[in-house]
Amino acid sequence: MFNEKMQKLGEERSVIREIFEYGNVRKREIGAGNVFDFSLGNPNVPAPDCVREAIVRLTETLPAETLHGYTSAAGAPEVRKAVADYIGTAFGVPMSADLVYMTCGAAASLTIALNALCEAGDEFVAIAPCFPEYRVFTEAAGGKYAEARTDGSFHLDLAAIDRAVGTRTKGVIVNSPNNPTGAVYSEREIEALAALLERKSKEKGSPIFLIADEPYRELVYGAEAPYLPRYYANTVVCYSFSKSLSLAGERIGYIAVNPACAGARELFSAVCGAGRSLGYVCAPSLFQRVCAECLGKSSDVAVYRKNRDRLYGALTEYGFDCALPQGAFYLFMKSPEPDAKAFCKRAKEYELLLVPSDSFGIEGYVRISYCVSQETIERALPAFERLAKEYFR
Ligand code: PLP
Repeated sequence: MFNEKMQKLGEERSVIREIFEYGNVRKREIGAGNVFDFSLGNPNVPAPDCVREAIVRLTETLPAETLHGYTSAAGAPEVRKAVADYIGTAFGVPMSADLVYMTCGAAASLTIALNALCEAGDEFVAIAPCFPEYRVFTEAAGGKYAEARTDGSFHLDLAAIDRAVGTRTKGVIVNSPNNPTGAVYSEREIEALAALLERKSKEKGSPIFLIADEPYRELVYGAEAPYLPRYYANTVVCYSFSKSLSLAGERIGYIAVNPACAGARELFSAVCGAGRSLGYVCAPSLFQRVCAECLGKSSDVAVYRKNRDRLYGALTEYGFDCALPQGAFYLFMKSPEPDAKAFCKRAKEYELLLVPSDSFGIEGYVRISYCVSQETIERALPAFERLAKEYFR
């Protein structure tokens, strides 16, 4: 009677959500301070001051029909221009406001971009481990989803990408800084990826697009995430302010089509069409304007860095095998037993809520979201230590 595919999707239990809900129940039972919830990527660092200042100023000065009213479907013209100007200055890519589309966060950016690009028979390759929703978004857009695994240190494995990308590939989804591994791909890696995609596009006889999923761009610890349009012409940037400005619940981001992209204007029309058909028009108008005033700013990354250093230092000392995150706010840790779900079950006995890696497209790891208070980390460490003793005596 209903759309069966959608019903199934709605009834499917998200592993992360389930852990989060369990955590809430457990907190009521034994007290919030005794449950160590590392499941969600919900920023705990406050939004920078510029956000509050912009909200106050805009709410006090803008006329009612502007403040909470509709903007153009693609966003307010002055906001699109501010984003384009920022991209030009910050990354040296001359962006046009006509190629910027304001969205409700990275999820909407990706969904719109995939719908704009996807024709019958097209395939999209994600670099795994990765955000589980890539599969959902790709398949909902009518595409076929495929993955290319990273190497052992979670960096690009060019041979694996070479094998995964073929004549049906329309796009490759790259997310750096990465959820769930914290890896930031280097300039050398991106140059090699760009060369590979150029060769593959030639073999195919039509462009293969790079979809740059960028919600963590500003959250880096010494490393710098290369700006993909500088290295590969056929790039669509899917940006979000959810993590950089701690605005995840406000649902705000943008798509920027690289002006050097093949058929950039037509592609942008397809972006507008996809936004229209999906109902993703006119992103939240107040937050469009707030973000336009906070471009290039971010929440205090030093707090995440402190968490990263403390957790990584302690966990490796206890005997766990972790990849040192260079960005985002996730620590990817090898499960000390092959079945990561079994390990997470064991961790739960210590009130440690971790996410098994299976849903990210790889087995045998857990993701630890360290966008939590320092107090949570300090209180959790003895539990991690006791857990470690069960495996490394
Ligand atoms: N892409 C990645 C890699 C993410 O980790 C997330 C959220 O966690 C998203 C996209 C979706 O972000 P948004 O909340 O801006 O829709």
